[in-house]
Amino acid sequence: MSAAVPPVLDVREATKVYGTGDTAVHALRGVSLVVERGDHVAIMGASGSGKSTLMNILGCLDVPTEGRYRLDGIDVGRLDERRLSILRNRRIGFIFQSFNLIPRMTALANVELPLAYGGVRREPRRRRALAALEQVGLADRVDHEPNELSGGQQQRVAVARALVTAPALLLADEPTGNLDTRSTADVLNILDRLSLAGRTIVVITHEADVAAHAKRIIRLVDGRIAEDRRQVPVTGHPPRHGLAESAK
Ligand code: ADP
Ligand code: MG
Repeated sequence: MSAAVPPVLDVREATKVYGTGDTAVHALRGVSLVVERGDHVAIMGASGSGKSTLMNILGCLDVPTEGRYRLDGIDVGRLDERRLSILRNRRIGFIFQSFNLIPRMTALANVELPLAYGGVRREPRRRRALAALEQVGLADRVDHEPNELSGGQQQRVAVARALVTAPALLLADEPTGNLDTRSTADVLNILDRLSLAGRTIVVITHEADVAAHAKRIIRLVDGRIAEDRRQVPVTGHPPRHGLAESAK
């Protein structure tokens, strides 16, 4: 056994073609990307540049047309649909722009859900969900349903739900796209703290303020990586600027 820890993400020459023939769309034209444990990466790019396509591949929701993808050392291309869904449940925590909480279920029940799917028993499930809600500052809202929470609070519940399985990767798609300035700052501060605690985070965003919190910024242009710029070392602290400082 090798002692080397595999990177969390290892994408080699991934392409994605939608459709065939004259109508084929080359959404990704050869993307290679390695993300180490503890990194915090923002993926930016204009509409149509391939962000969602890449996000779907990173999140094991879709497979590349060509190329290889390893998540946490596991070759995703070799897995059947059932194994892929287990991999998603155990190794990836998703955060979406629209929160995607289940209505008429309490915050606690929402956060317990991925653990329930993972077969975790009731008592440890509850304990871990409460701890995750505490981490996002919602210990006093655990019995509230989504429609009794503000947008910012709902997104913090979604962050707790993403965290609760201790995934290898937190994958966020425009996580602050539906939030006001104040709630945006709250969510970004939580991501900063998670990054500081060693979590691996990939955020898709078109907002420069959100990207400013990342340690590394990748820019997609027309299905290719046009820029890959590191702002802070993988093991370093997130930059202390952007909205979090200005929103008082
Ligand atoms: P972004 O998220 O950066 O806006 P997308 O990954 O959604 O970009 O899209 C990249 C390109 O692929 C666009 O030209 C888009 O129209 C096309 N595309 C995305 N999804 C599909 C699909 N399911 N079928 C056909 N074309 C698609
Ligand atoms: Mg998109």
